[in-house]
Amino acid sequence: MRAVVVGGGVAGLVAARRLAIEGSAVVLLEASDRLGGRVAATRVGGVTVDAGAESFAVRGGAVRALIDELGLGGAVQEPSGSAWVALPDRTVPLPVGGLLGIPSSPLATDVVRVLDARGALRAYADRVRPVLKRGRYDRLGPLVRERMGARVLDRLVASVVVNVYGADPDEVPVDAIAPGLNGAITTAGSLSGAVLQLRAAAPPGAAAQGLAGGVHRLVEALEADLRGRGVEVRTGTPVLGVHPAPFGGLLTVSTAREDLQADRVVLAAEGAAALDLLSDAAPGLGRMPRPAPAVSRAVLLLVEDRRLDDAPRGTGVLRAPITTGVRASAVTHLTAKWPELGARAGRGRHLLRLSYRGGDAVPDATVVADATALLGLDGLHLAAREDVVWTDTAPALAPETIAVRRALAGAALPDGLAVAGSWVAGTGLASVVAAAERAARPGAS
Ligand SMILES: Cc1cc2nc3c(=O)[nH]c(=O)nc-3n(C[C@H](O)[C@H](O)[C@H](O)COP(=O)(O)OP(=O)(O)OC[C@H]3O[C@@H](n4cnc5c(N)ncnc54)[C@H](O)[C@@H]3O)c2cc1C
Repeated sequence: MRAVVVGGGVAGLVAARRLAIEGSAVVLLEASDRLGGRVAATRVGGVTVDAGAESFAVRGGAVRALIDELGLGGAVQEPSGSAWVALPDRTVPLPVGGLLGIPSSPLATDVVRVLDARGALRAYADRVRPVLKRGRYDRLGPLVRERMGARVLDRLVASVVVNVYGADPDEVPVDAIAPGLNGAITTAGSLSGAVLQLRAAAPPGAAAQGLAGGVHRLVEALEADLRGRGVEVRTGTPVLGVHPAPFGGLLTVSTAREDLQADRVVLAAEGAAALDLLSDAAPGLGRMPRPAPAVSRAVLLLVEDRRLDDAPRGTGVLRAPITTGVRASAVTHLTAKWPELGARAGRGRHLLRLSYRGGDAVPDATVVADATALLGLDGLHLAAREDVVWTDTAPALAPETIAVRRALAGAALPDGLAVAGSWVAGTGLASVVAAAERAARPGAS
């Protein structure tokens, strides 16, 4: 069997590995000059740090299984501490035990600290109102607003859904952002009860983990594994087309230099590129409306300031969208979150990541003002700064991407062709790895 994988992000690397394990002769084609896609390393003030993904969700177990198979199990680490939220009138810890910011215990002290007593009582009304039946609310925003009140939506849920998932709570379908929530609502009868039920069913320990040295080590390990299995990895090789044979038979993958014939093709380029490449094999999908790309700027800072040794804002702060006067949507205190990184940076030296929506330049003065406001420390001094701009051409929760995914589920792709990547699987390594493994299994197309 000959197999071609298009795209060398984590989805493509995982698919190529699985195809090689199943016995195929595999060629992986990556357009850019490096592997890893949105998992990448950069150096800030001499310290190597993740510029893209820096953790993975534990759910499902696919990432952990892969890490163990690659011999990196000993490097898995748990984050230290938890995140805060910047509200218009105060900055406080995000309540524990919630889901997407929806509290499971509306009267808990940490929830009252965010909502005040009145807001918490309004949220608690969800428990005593008529039973909530599955499917009554299609979108997350109206569900939360009507069951638990606008304060829960504006102060908690929007802070997580907008900043972490890049989605609008009023637009995003419940099933797309929280699979399982509708089912739990049916049995629990209330929204907070459903969250409590899902949290109780989750495995103990942190919901997300990291790797000592950085999540980018996963890419290095995958690349070494592929080479060990004889996979031919070609970077700097954009794929220009994927064509089915007119009467079945081999698929053709075209690059500028040659046409490759294959029994199996896994298309693991990111959203817009994948849809372009599908235009011949699945013309209906290729013509569907595209979402607006989501562009973000990660500003990585090295700050020398001993006051940060005490992690004054835990692992970092999400800015509630209703909070004005700060341009950054979040700050992650990387050296507090990952103690191994803190040890590498050295005492009194801290790495922060400020996240900005859009790719526009952000002056140092704005970055310092934002870090000051979010961390509650003035007089911060930037010792080093490194910016990385990321573009997601098909955000997984954009309505257009969801529509493409639904159409894909009902579409018949040519024999041997399968798709993978965050635009089909959902954002995040847990979804991407599990779906790439499935796409590469025999008979996946
Ligand atoms: C700043 C940031 C932070 C993140 N943090 C986390 C986190 O903490 N935890 C988490 O789980 N997830 C996180 N994510 C999301 C996660 O990184 C992505 O979901 C995941 O890496 C996507 O992998 P992928 O292989 O689907 O796509 P990509 O990584 O985008 O890979 C697609 C690859 O296809 C290549 N390609 C495109 N067109 C072609 C073509 N025509 N021919 C050949 N190759 C092509 C591209 O060059 C690219 O290398 C983060 C993302 C960003 C940007």
